[in-house]
Amino acid sequence: MKINFDKSNGLIPVIIQDNRTLQVVMLGYMNEEAFEKTKKEGVVTFFSRSKNRLWTKGEESGNFLTVKDIRIDCDQDTVLIKVIPRNGVCHTGSFSCFGNKDSKGFLYELEEKISQRIDNRVEESYTYSLYQRGINKVAQKVGEEAVELVIEAKDNNEQLFKNEAADLLYHFLILLKTKGYTLEEIEEILQNRDK
Ligand code: AMP
Ligand code: ZN
Ligand code: ZN
Ligand code: ZN
Repeated sequence: MKINFDKSNGLIPVIIQDNRTLQVVMLGYMNEEAFEKTKKEGVVTFFSRSKNRLWTKGEESGNFLTVKDIRIDCDQDTVLIKVIPRNGVCHTGSFSCFGNKDSKGFLYELEEKISQRIDNRVEESYTYSLYQRGINKVAQKVGEEAVELVIEAKDNNEQLFKNEAADLLYHFLILLKTKGYTLEEIEEILQNRDK
């Protein structure tokens, strides 16, 4: 991985993408030192043009950006970094510097949340309590939600239909987790069928 820092006077733009939703959440700049530090430490350090120094995102707020993947573009003058953000990314506390959350990609975030509820054995969580009742119960629940969706499909109540569709997706994600599979694996199967 070699970046051409000279081409852009030592500072290159860095796009920060949420690793779960793939949403672009921030843009910053790095000089070579910031880039090397980021690679070495696994948390994002920019070169702040306003502070005129290295700036580790989260140094005051604690909202660090943990690096999951680093890519350099075709002509080595822009970087794309996938991160797991801790809390909000923006200094306003919001998820992204570009305003509201898009719902595309949210399923991956939900998948992560479901996974955490189960792995951390969160007793008061519905997700965990359903999981604890075992695979047959989880699968049965998916079946029930599917039937409810079928019933609403015959009806004309938009709200009820959408709610049942959401119930089905949510329970479907719990079933995947209970079986030890990921949404990405299922997406790949669909993607390969489409070739
Ligand atoms: P932090 O790096 O999160 O500890 O924040 C330190 C300071 O950096 C804040 O007070 C803001 O001035 C600035 N800052 C934090 N996050 C952002 C951001 N996403 N975009 C621009 N400036 C930021
Ligand atoms: Zn480029
Ligand atoms: Zn911001
Ligand atoms: Zn339902």
